[in-house]
Amino acid sequence: MAELQIPADVLKIAKRLEDAGFETWCVGGAVRDNLLGLPNHDFDLTTAAPPPEVQKLFKRTIPVGIEHGTVAVLDANGQPHEVTTFRKDIQTDGRHAVVEFGVSIMDDLARRDFTINAIAYHPLRHEWRDPFQGEQDLAKKLIRSVGDPNWRFQEDYLRILRALRFSARFEFRIHPRTLEAAKANIQGLAQLSAERVRDEWFKGILTAKKLSKFVALWVDSGAKRIWLPELGAGSGEPGAVDKLPRDPVLITAYLAKDPASLLIRLKCSSKDIERGRAIGKWRDHYPDVKDPVAIRRWLSAVGEYADDLLTLPRPSGSQLQDSVAKIRAKNPPLGLKDLAVRGDDLIAAGVRAGPDVGETLARLLEEVLEDPARNTKDYLLSRV
Ligand code: ATP
Ligand code: MG
Repeated sequence: MAELQIPADVLKIAKRLEDAGFETWCVGGAVRDNLLGLPNHDFDLTTAAPPPEVQKLFKRTIPVGIEHGTVAVLDANGQPHEVTTFRKDIQTDGRHAVVEFGVSIMDDLARRDFTINAIAYHPLRHEWRDPFQGEQDLAKKLIRSVGDPNWRFQEDYLRILRALRFSARFEFRIHPRTLEAAKANIQGLAQLSAERVRDEWFKGILTAKKLSKFVALWVDSGAKRIWLPELGAGSGEPGAVDKLPRDPVLITAYLAKDPASLLIRLKCSSKDIERGRAIGKWRDHYPDVKDPVAIRRWLSAVGEYADDLLTLPRPSGSQLQDSVAKIRAKNPPLGLKDLAVRGDDLIAAGVRAGPDVGETLARLLEEVLEDPARNTKDYLLSRV
Protein backbone atom coordinates (compact mmCIF):
# COMPACT_ATOMS: atom_id res chain seq x y z
CA MET A 1 0.00 0.00 0.00
CA ALA A 2 1.09 3.54 -0.71
CA GLU A 3 2.63 6.09 1.62
CA LEU A 4 0.26 8.81 2.74
CA GLN A 5 1.04 12.50 2.90
CA ILE A 6 0.40 13.46 6.52
CA PRO A 7 0.13 17.19 7.27
CA ALA A 8 3.01 18.54 9.39
CA ASP A 9 0.71 19.56 12.29
CA VAL A 10 -0.74 16.05 12.56
CA LEU A 11 2.71 14.52 12.33
CA LYS A 12 3.94 16.73 15.16
CA ILE A 13 1.15 15.58 17.46
CA ALA A 14 1.75 11.93 16.58
CA LYS A 15 5.50 12.30 17.20
CA ARG A 16 5.04 13.82 20.63
CA LEU A 17 2.73 10.97 21.67
CA GLU A 18 5.09 8.35 20.29
CA ASP A 19 8.10 9.99 21.96
CA ALA A 20 6.21 9.76 25.25
CA GLY A 21 5.89 6.01 24.64
CA PHE A 22 2.30 5.89 23.33
CA GLU A 23 1.62 4.11 20.06
CA THR A 24 -0.34 6.45 17.73
CA TRP A 25 -2.07 5.83 14.40
CA CYS A 26 -4.05 7.77 11.78
CA VAL A 27 -7.55 6.37 11.34
CA GLY A 28 -11.02 7.00 10.00
CA GLY A 29 -12.39 9.11 7.20
CA ALA A 30 -9.16 10.81 6.13
CA VAL A 31 -7.29 7.51 5.69
CA ARG A 32 -10.21 6.18 3.66
CA ASP A 33 -10.54 9.33 1.53
CA ASN A 34 -6.82 9.51 0.78
CA LEU A 35 -6.82 5.88 -0.34
CA LEU A 36 -9.68 6.82 -2.65
CA GLY A 37 -7.62 9.70 -3.97
CA LEU A 38 -10.00 12.27 -2.48
CA PRO A 39 -8.51 15.29 -0.72
CA ASN A 40 -8.92 15.13 3.08
CA HIS A 41 -6.27 16.51 5.42
CA ASP A 42 -8.38 16.16 8.53
CA PHE A 43 -6.67 13.06 9.94
CA ASP A 44 -7.99 11.68 13.21
CA LEU A 45 -5.43 10.09 15.50
CA THR A 46 -5.97 7.12 17.76
CA THR A 47 -3.49 6.47 20.53
CA ALA A 48 -2.59 4.21 23.43
CA ALA A 49 -2.35 7.30 25.64
CA PRO A 50 -5.30 7.64 28.04
CA PRO A 51 -7.11 11.01 27.86
CA PRO A 52 -5.38 12.56 30.94
CA GLU A 53 -1.99 11.77 29.39
CA VAL A 54 -3.03 13.42 26.13
CA GLN A 55 -4.14 16.47 28.09
CA LYS A 56 -0.81 16.57 29.94
CA LEU A 57 1.32 16.26 26.81
CA PHE A 58 -0.16 19.24 24.96
CA LYS A 59 -0.51 22.86 25.98
CA ARG A 60 -3.89 23.44 24.45
CA THR A 61 -6.56 20.73 24.44
CA ILE A 62 -10.37 20.62 24.46
CA PRO A 63 -12.16 17.63 26.01
CA VAL A 64 -14.65 17.23 23.13
CA GLY A 65 -15.80 13.73 24.07
CA ILE A 66 -13.72 12.75 27.03
CA GLU A 67 -16.03 9.93 28.18
CA HIS A 68 -15.37 8.26 24.82
CA GLY A 69 -11.69 9.12 25.01
CA THR A 70 -11.68 12.02 22.53
CA VAL A 71 -9.56 15.09 23.17
CA ALA A 72 -9.01 17.81 20.58
CA VAL A 73 -5.41 18.99 20.44
CA LEU A 74 -4.95 22.51 19.11
CA ASP A 75 -1.97 23.04 16.80
CA ALA A 76 0.15 26.21 16.53
CA ASN A 77 -2.57 27.81 14.38
CA GLY A 78 -5.30 26.93 16.86
CA GLN A 79 -6.66 24.23 14.54
CA PRO A 80 -8.17 21.28 16.44
CA HIS A 81 -7.07 17.69 15.74
CA GLU A 82 -9.02 14.83 17.29
CA VAL A 83 -7.02 12.37 19.33
CA THR A 84 -8.96 9.36 20.63
CA THR A 85 -7.66 6.71 22.99
CA PHE A 86 -7.73 3.09 21.73
CA ARG A 87 -11.06 1.82 22.94
CA LYS A 88 -13.38 -1.10 22.94
CA ASP A 89 -17.16 -0.87 23.42
CA ILE A 90 -17.95 -3.25 26.26
CA GLN A 91 -21.63 -2.53 26.69
CA THR A 92 -24.10 -1.02 24.23
CA ASP A 93 -27.82 -0.47 24.02
CA GLY A 94 -28.27 0.58 20.42
CA ARG A 95 -27.61 4.23 21.23
CA HIS A 96 -24.83 4.60 23.80
CA ALA A 97 -21.69 2.64 24.54
CA VAL A 98 -19.73 2.05 27.72
CA VAL A 99 -16.12 2.10 26.64
CA GLU A 100 -12.92 0.54 27.93
CA PHE A 101 -9.46 2.01 27.30
CA GLY A 102 -6.11 0.27 27.44
CA VAL A 103 -6.71 -2.00 24.47
CA SER A 104 -4.76 -2.44 21.22
CA ILE A 105 -5.05 -0.77 17.81
CA MET A 106 -6.60 -4.04 16.57
CA ASP A 107 -9.37 -3.85 19.18
CA ASP A 108 -9.89 -0.21 18.31
CA LEU A 109 -10.29 -1.03 14.61
CA ALA A 110 -12.69 -3.86 15.45
CA ARG A 111 -15.19 -1.49 17.10
CA ARG A 112 -15.38 0.71 13.99
CA ASP A 113 -18.44 0.59 11.76
CA PHE A 114 -17.36 -0.40 8.24
CA THR A 115 -14.27 -2.06 6.82
CA ILE A 116 -13.40 1.04 4.76
CA ASN A 117 -13.45 3.09 8.00
CA ALA A 118 -11.32 0.58 9.92
CA ILE A 119 -7.93 1.07 8.26
CA ALA A 120 -5.04 2.50 10.29
CA TYR A 121 -1.83 4.10 9.04
CA HIS A 122 1.23 4.73 11.16
CA PRO A 123 2.35 8.26 10.29
CA LEU A 124 5.98 7.75 11.37
CA ARG A 125 6.64 4.12 10.47
CA HIS A 126 4.39 4.19 7.39
CA GLU A 127 2.85 0.88 8.39
CA TRP A 128 -0.69 -0.22 7.66
CA ARG A 129 -3.20 -2.13 9.78
CA ASP A 130 -6.15 -3.36 7.76
CA PRO A 131 -7.43 -6.44 9.58
CA PHE A 132 -10.84 -6.37 7.85
CA GLN A 133 -9.64 -5.93 4.26
CA GLY A 134 -10.94 -2.38 4.00
CA GLU A 135 -8.64 -1.64 1.12
CA GLN A 136 -10.09 -4.54 -0.84
CA ASP A 137 -13.59 -3.21 -0.20
CA LEU A 138 -12.52 0.25 -1.35
CA ALA A 139 -11.39 -1.34 -4.61
CA LYS A 140 -14.62 -3.36 -4.86
CA LYS A 141 -16.69 -0.28 -3.93
CA LEU A 142 -18.35 -2.01 -1.01
CA ILE A 143 -19.80 -0.86 2.31
CA ARG A 144 -19.43 -3.83 4.62
CA SER A 145 -19.86 -4.04 8.38
CA VAL A 146 -16.85 -4.94 10.49
CA GLY A 147 -17.84 -8.32 11.91
CA ASP A 148 -21.41 -9.55 12.12
CA PRO A 149 -23.65 -6.86 10.67
CA ASN A 150 -26.63 -7.82 12.84
CA TRP A 151 -24.68 -7.35 16.06
CA ARG A 152 -22.99 -4.23 14.83
CA PHE A 153 -26.28 -2.55 13.92
CA GLN A 154 -27.84 -3.65 17.21
CA GLU A 155 -24.93 -2.07 19.09
CA ASP A 156 -25.62 1.26 17.41
CA TYR A 157 -28.53 1.67 15.02
CA LEU A 158 -27.09 4.90 13.67
CA ARG A 159 -24.67 2.71 11.70
CA ILE A 160 -27.57 1.78 9.43
CA LEU A 161 -28.00 5.40 8.41
CA ARG A 162 -24.23 5.81 8.09
CA ALA A 163 -24.18 2.89 5.65
CA LEU A 164 -26.80 4.63 3.50
CA ARG A 165 -24.86 7.90 3.61
CA PHE A 166 -21.49 6.38 2.68
CA SER A 167 -23.11 4.31 -0.05
CA ALA A 168 -24.61 7.39 -1.69
CA ARG A 169 -21.53 9.53 -1.16
CA PHE A 170 -19.05 7.16 -2.80
CA GLU A 171 -21.54 5.31 -5.02
CA PHE A 172 -20.58 2.07 -3.28
CA ARG A 173 -22.88 -0.93 -3.03
CA ILE A 174 -23.84 -2.10 0.41
CA HIS A 175 -22.68 -5.70 0.81
CA PRO A 176 -25.70 -8.04 0.57
CA ARG A 177 -25.37 -9.35 4.14
CA THR A 178 -24.88 -5.85 5.52
CA LEU A 179 -27.89 -4.57 3.59
CA GLU A 180 -30.00 -7.49 4.67
CA ALA A 181 -29.09 -6.84 8.32
CA ALA A 182 -29.80 -3.13 7.91
CA LYS A 183 -33.30 -3.91 6.67
CA ALA A 184 -33.90 -6.55 9.31
CA ASN A 185 -32.97 -4.08 12.08
CA ILE A 186 -34.61 -1.01 10.64
CA GLN A 187 -37.13 -0.74 13.47
CA GLY A 188 -34.21 -0.04 15.82
CA LEU A 189 -33.89 3.40 14.24
CA ALA A 190 -36.91 4.44 16.30
CA GLN A 191 -34.68 4.43 19.41
CA LEU A 192 -32.27 7.04 18.05
CA SER A 193 -32.43 10.68 19.00
CA ALA A 194 -33.93 13.04 16.43
CA GLU A 195 -30.75 15.12 16.40
CA ARG A 196 -28.53 12.21 15.33
CA VAL A 197 -31.02 11.17 12.65
CA ARG A 198 -31.31 14.73 11.36
CA ASP A 199 -27.54 15.06 11.16
CA GLU A 200 -27.32 11.89 9.10
CA TRP A 201 -30.17 12.90 6.78
CA PHE A 202 -28.82 16.42 6.25
CA LYS A 203 -25.19 15.25 5.82
CA GLY A 204 -26.39 12.69 3.31
CA ILE A 205 -28.20 15.38 1.33
CA LEU A 206 -25.04 17.48 1.29
CA THR A 207 -22.60 14.70 0.34
CA ALA A 208 -24.48 12.23 -1.88
CA LYS A 209 -23.14 12.03 -5.40
CA LYS A 210 -26.64 11.64 -6.74
CA LEU A 211 -29.29 12.87 -4.34
CA SER A 212 -32.13 10.78 -5.78
CA LYS A 213 -30.05 7.67 -5.04
CA PHE A 214 -29.63 8.67 -1.42
CA VAL A 215 -33.38 9.26 -1.10
CA ALA A 216 -34.04 5.89 -2.73
CA LEU A 217 -31.78 4.20 -0.16
CA TRP A 218 -33.81 5.70 2.70
CA VAL A 219 -37.00 4.52 1.02
CA ASP A 220 -35.81 1.01 0.13
CA SER A 221 -34.17 0.31 3.50
CA GLY A 222 -37.31 1.34 5.38
CA ALA A 223 -35.57 4.24 7.18
CA LYS A 224 -37.99 6.63 5.52
CA ARG A 225 -40.97 4.78 6.94
CA ILE A 226 -39.66 5.23 10.49
CA TRP A 227 -38.40 8.82 10.47
CA LEU A 228 -39.67 10.56 7.34
CA PRO A 229 -43.07 9.04 6.55
CA GLU A 230 -44.21 12.26 4.84
CA LEU A 231 -41.47 11.88 2.26
CA GLY A 232 -42.35 11.12 -1.32
CA ALA A 233 -45.99 11.97 -0.82
CA GLY A 234 -45.47 15.68 -1.50
CA SER A 235 -45.70 17.53 -4.75
CA GLY A 236 -42.06 16.75 -5.41
CA GLU A 237 -41.11 14.04 -7.86
CA PRO A 238 -38.07 12.11 -6.58
CA GLY A 239 -36.08 12.54 -9.81
CA ALA A 240 -36.41 16.32 -9.74
CA VAL A 241 -34.32 16.63 -6.56
CA ASP A 242 -31.14 16.08 -8.57
CA LYS A 243 -31.62 19.50 -10.14
CA LEU A 244 -32.18 21.35 -6.86
CA PRO A 245 -29.51 23.15 -4.85
CA ARG A 246 -28.10 21.01 -1.99
CA ASP A 247 -30.01 22.78 0.71
CA PRO A 248 -31.21 20.18 3.25
CA VAL A 249 -34.25 22.09 4.49
CA LEU A 250 -35.37 23.09 0.99
CA ILE A 251 -34.97 19.54 -0.29
CA THR A 252 -36.70 17.95 2.69
CA ALA A 253 -39.59 20.40 2.35
CA TYR A 254 -39.81 19.77 -1.37
CA LEU A 255 -40.07 16.01 -0.90
CA ALA A 256 -42.46 16.03 2.04
CA LYS A 257 -46.22 16.16 2.04
CA ASP A 258 -46.34 18.07 5.32
CA PRO A 259 -42.89 19.67 5.65
CA ALA A 260 -43.47 21.39 8.99
CA SER A 261 -44.44 18.25 10.89
CA LEU A 262 -41.45 16.39 9.45
CA LEU A 263 -39.05 19.20 10.42
CA ILE A 264 -40.59 19.35 13.89
CA ARG A 265 -39.99 15.60 14.29
CA LEU A 266 -36.35 16.13 13.34
CA LYS A 267 -36.12 18.88 16.00
CA CYS A 268 -35.09 21.50 13.49
CA SER A 269 -34.82 25.18 14.46
CA SER A 270 -38.02 27.22 14.41
CA LYS A 271 -36.57 29.20 11.52
CA ASP A 272 -36.21 26.00 9.47
CA ILE A 273 -39.66 24.80 10.50
CA GLU A 274 -41.27 28.09 9.41
CA ARG A 275 -39.43 27.90 6.13
CA GLY A 276 -40.72 24.38 5.55
CA ARG A 277 -44.22 25.45 6.53
CA ALA A 278 -44.16 28.32 4.00
CA ILE A 279 -42.94 26.02 1.24
CA GLY A 280 -45.70 23.52 2.02
CA LYS A 281 -48.33 26.24 2.13
CA TRP A 282 -47.41 28.15 -1.01
CA ARG A 283 -46.00 25.63 -3.48
CA ASP A 284 -49.43 24.90 -4.95
CA HIS A 285 -50.41 28.57 -5.20
CA TYR A 286 -48.17 30.21 -7.75
CA PRO A 287 -49.50 33.35 -9.48
CA ASP A 288 -50.26 33.65 -13.18
CA VAL A 289 -47.01 34.61 -14.94
CA LYS A 290 -48.83 37.17 -17.09
CA ASP A 291 -50.55 38.97 -14.21
CA PRO A 292 -48.26 41.54 -12.53
CA VAL A 293 -50.86 42.41 -9.89
CA ALA A 294 -51.18 38.76 -8.89
CA ILE A 295 -47.39 38.43 -8.82
CA ARG A 296 -47.00 41.49 -6.58
CA ARG A 297 -49.70 40.16 -4.24
CA TRP A 298 -47.93 36.81 -4.17
CA LEU A 299 -44.52 38.37 -3.47
CA SER A 300 -46.10 40.38 -0.68
CA ALA A 301 -47.70 37.31 0.86
CA VAL A 302 -44.77 34.88 0.62
CA GLY A 303 -42.25 37.47 1.78
CA GLU A 304 -38.78 36.05 2.48
CA TYR A 305 -39.72 32.64 1.04
CA ALA A 306 -40.21 33.88 -2.53
CA ASP A 307 -36.81 32.68 -3.71
CA ASP A 308 -37.29 29.22 -2.23
CA LEU A 309 -40.59 28.95 -4.07
CA LEU A 310 -39.01 30.18 -7.28
CA THR A 311 -36.22 27.61 -6.95
CA LEU A 312 -38.63 24.67 -6.76
CA PRO A 313 -39.80 23.15 -10.03
CA ARG A 314 -43.29 24.28 -11.00
CA PRO A 315 -45.68 24.00 -13.93
CA SER A 316 -44.93 27.43 -15.43
CA GLY A 317 -41.21 26.61 -15.60
CA SER A 318 -38.80 29.53 -15.63
CA GLN A 319 -41.31 32.08 -16.95
CA LEU A 320 -42.36 33.11 -13.48
CA GLN A 321 -38.75 33.81 -12.57
CA ASP A 322 -38.49 36.19 -15.52
CA SER A 323 -41.72 37.97 -14.60
CA VAL A 324 -40.63 38.30 -10.98
CA ALA A 325 -37.23 39.64 -12.01
CA LYS A 326 -38.90 42.33 -14.12
CA ILE A 327 -41.19 43.32 -11.29
CA ARG A 328 -38.41 43.35 -8.71
CA ALA A 329 -36.27 45.53 -10.97
CA LYS A 330 -38.86 48.27 -10.47
CA ASN A 331 -38.62 47.83 -6.71
CA PRO A 332 -42.36 48.12 -6.05
CA PRO A 333 -43.78 48.49 -2.53
CA LEU A 334 -44.63 44.98 -1.29
CA GLY A 335 -45.04 45.32 2.46
CA LEU A 336 -46.51 47.66 5.06
CA LYS A 337 -43.05 49.05 5.71
CA ASP A 338 -42.83 50.17 2.06
CA LEU A 339 -45.99 52.30 2.22
CA ALA A 340 -45.61 56.07 1.86
CA VAL A 341 -47.66 56.50 5.05
CA ARG A 342 -47.14 55.12 8.57
CA GLY A 343 -49.65 54.51 11.32
CA ASP A 344 -48.93 57.93 12.83
CA ASP A 345 -49.88 59.62 9.56
CA LEU A 346 -53.22 57.86 9.61
CA ILE A 347 -53.91 58.87 13.21
CA ALA A 348 -53.02 62.46 12.35
CA ALA A 349 -55.50 62.20 9.47
CA GLY A 350 -58.25 61.12 11.87
CA VAL A 351 -58.08 57.29 12.02
CA ARG A 352 -58.81 56.04 15.53
CA ALA A 353 -55.72 54.60 17.26
CA GLY A 354 -56.00 50.79 17.66
CA PRO A 355 -56.98 48.03 15.26
CA ASP A 356 -58.41 50.51 12.75
CA VAL A 357 -54.88 51.63 11.94
CA GLY A 358 -53.68 48.15 10.98
CA GLU A 359 -56.80 47.46 8.96
CA THR A 360 -56.46 50.72 7.06
CA LEU A 361 -52.78 50.10 6.33
CA ALA A 362 -53.62 46.62 5.00
CA ARG A 363 -56.31 48.11 2.74
CA LEU A 364 -53.88 50.75 1.45
CA LEU A 365 -51.25 48.08 0.77
CA GLU A 366 -53.80 46.18 -1.26
CA GLU A 367 -54.38 49.32 -3.40
CA VAL A 368 -50.67 49.84 -3.83
CA LEU A 369 -50.08 46.21 -4.83
CA GLU A 370 -52.66 46.72 -7.56
CA ASP A 371 -50.89 49.87 -8.78
CA PRO A 372 -47.53 50.88 -7.29
CA ALA A 373 -47.95 54.42 -8.66
CA ARG A 374 -50.51 54.96 -5.92
CA ASN A 375 -47.82 54.84 -3.27
CA THR A 376 -47.70 58.57 -2.50
CA LYS A 377 -48.63 60.18 0.78
CA ASP A 378 -51.20 62.46 -0.89
CA TYR A 379 -52.95 59.67 -2.70
CA LEU A 380 -52.99 57.30 0.27
CA LEU A 381 -54.26 59.94 2.73
CA SER A 382 -56.97 60.84 0.20
CA ARG A 383 -58.13 57.21 0.43
CA VAL A 384 -58.37 57.18 4.22
P1 ATP B 1 -16.91 11.82 7.45
O1 ATP B 1 -16.13 12.17 6.23
O2 ATP B 1 -18.37 11.80 7.25
O3 ATP B 1 -16.48 12.59 8.68
P2 ATP B 1 -15.76 9.63 8.86
O4 ATP B 1 -15.50 8.21 8.47
O5 ATP B 1 -14.59 10.47 9.26
O6 ATP B 1 -16.57 10.28 7.68
P3 ATP B 1 -16.79 10.24 11.46
O7 ATP B 1 -18.21 10.31 11.91
O8 ATP B 1 -15.99 11.48 11.45
O9 ATP B 1 -16.81 9.56 10.03
O10 ATP B 1 -16.09 9.14 12.37
C1 ATP B 1 -14.71 8.87 12.33
C2 ATP B 1 -14.47 7.39 12.42
O11 ATP B 1 -15.00 6.89 13.63
C3 ATP B 1 -15.16 6.56 11.33
O12 ATP B 1 -14.34 6.47 10.18
C4 ATP B 1 -15.33 5.21 12.01
O13 ATP B 1 -14.13 4.49 11.99
C5 ATP B 1 -15.61 5.61 13.44
N1 ATP B 1 -17.06 5.75 13.73
C6 ATP B 1 -17.80 6.87 13.68
N2 ATP B 1 -19.07 6.65 14.03
C7 ATP B 1 -19.14 5.34 14.34
C8 ATP B 1 -20.19 4.49 14.80
N3 ATP B 1 -21.42 4.95 14.99
N4 ATP B 1 -19.88 3.20 15.03
C9 ATP B 1 -18.62 2.72 14.83
N5 ATP B 1 -17.61 3.47 14.40
C10 ATP B 1 -17.84 4.77 14.14
MG1 MG C 1 -14.72 12.49 10.05
